Amino acid sequence: MAITKRYTGLIENYRSRLPVSAATRIISLGEGNTPLIQLLNIPALIGKEVEIYVKYEGLNPTGSFKDRGMTMAVTKAVEDGSRAIICASTGNTSASAAAYAVRAGIKAFVLIPEGKIALGKLAQTLMYGAKIIQIRGNFDDGMALVKQVAEHAPVTIVNSINPFRLEGQKTAAFEIVDELGAAPDYHCLPVGNAGNITAYWKGYSEYAADSAGHPAVTDKRPVMCGYQALGASPFVQGKMVDNPETVATAIRIGHPQSWDLAWNVQKESGGWFDALGDEQILLAQKMLAQHEGIFCEPASAASLAGLLVDLESGKIPAGSRIVCTLTGNGLKDPDTAIGQCRDTHPVSIEASLDAVKKAILDSM
Ligand SMILES: *Cc1c(COP(=O)(O)O)cnc(C)c1O
Repeated sequence: MAITKRYTGLIENYRSRLPVSAATRIISLGEGNTPLIQLLNIPALIGKEVEIYVKYEGLNPTGSFKDRGMTMAVTKAVEDGSRAIICASTGNTSASAAAYAVRAGIKAFVLIPEGKIALGKLAQTLMYGAKIIQIRGNFDDGMALVKQVAEHAPVTIVNSINPFRLEGQKTAAFEIVDELGAAPDYHCLPVGNAGNITAYWKGYSEYAADSAGHPAVTDKRPVMCGYQALGASPFVQGKMVDNPETVATAIRIGHPQSWDLAWNVQKESGGWFDALGDEQILLAQKMLAQHEGIFCEPASAASLAGLLVDLESGKIPAGSRIVCTLTGNGLKDPDTAIGQCRDTHPVSIEASLDAVKKAILDSM
């Protein structure tokens, strides 16, 4: 007997809310439907009466939320007859584009900043077999080049300026509302190009607009809080930044592509942008790992780092229900993780029962 279970990627799950038809060939790796995990220890640790959930996007097929946008963008590129896709990337977009291109049987070209991409992301992109073009420049330089080259070559851009990316990514908001029964009070996330904050707002807004005929859904929308790294904080400075610098390489972006869209999200939701130092971001990353057992990449932890500051100041009040998006998996950037744990490096002992016993008893 044939296996009847169908894969459950996000396009199938939210088909009626996405731009696909019955004839569309869907390019999927089973993305979406990621865990929404309630933090159990951190609220007590900081002494705050709050309900905090993290949307763990690191469990998508290539380890970041980019897969939500990529399933949609590649599906549409193939539908439109494209034979190749291209992107500029700080790493996660390239890994995702590379994987979905393989799945579709088309070619992927990725422009990445030389030496500024986390090891895991590079390994993935190489392994999937994408054509990697390293540039001696940053993400913003790569993005400008990709826009130009797409006018001269038959390639589809799959960066978040491709509107289908945001269509796919808005489904994360649907999943949260479906699971919590209503939108949270606040939604915190890291901001680079600001495509994701725009996509979440689109998702929350579409559900809210439908709430009249939809008993399971309310018209509530969250306050959107976008967090950047201090050295790459154009939304906080109110202007583009030319030489962005941060340990959180996924948000090392000075010229955000969704600039106007994200300002609109801020205004409509009554939210704000703020910036965190690299040390604050790394501390939040370690806190999630060591107090909750959740390992995200540095950029992702900006969401919690920002939330902690805003809880402390009272800007986000006690009693709130908050969702933080953890955009990427901690395994993406092993160098930064190991670098952060220098003081807890493994002890090295003789391979004997006595020595192991002593090592255990010494640290009990
Ligand atoms: C892409 C990415 C971001 C930033 O998302 P934008 O849509 O560019 O704002 C944040 N964190 C991780 C891990 C990413 O890969």
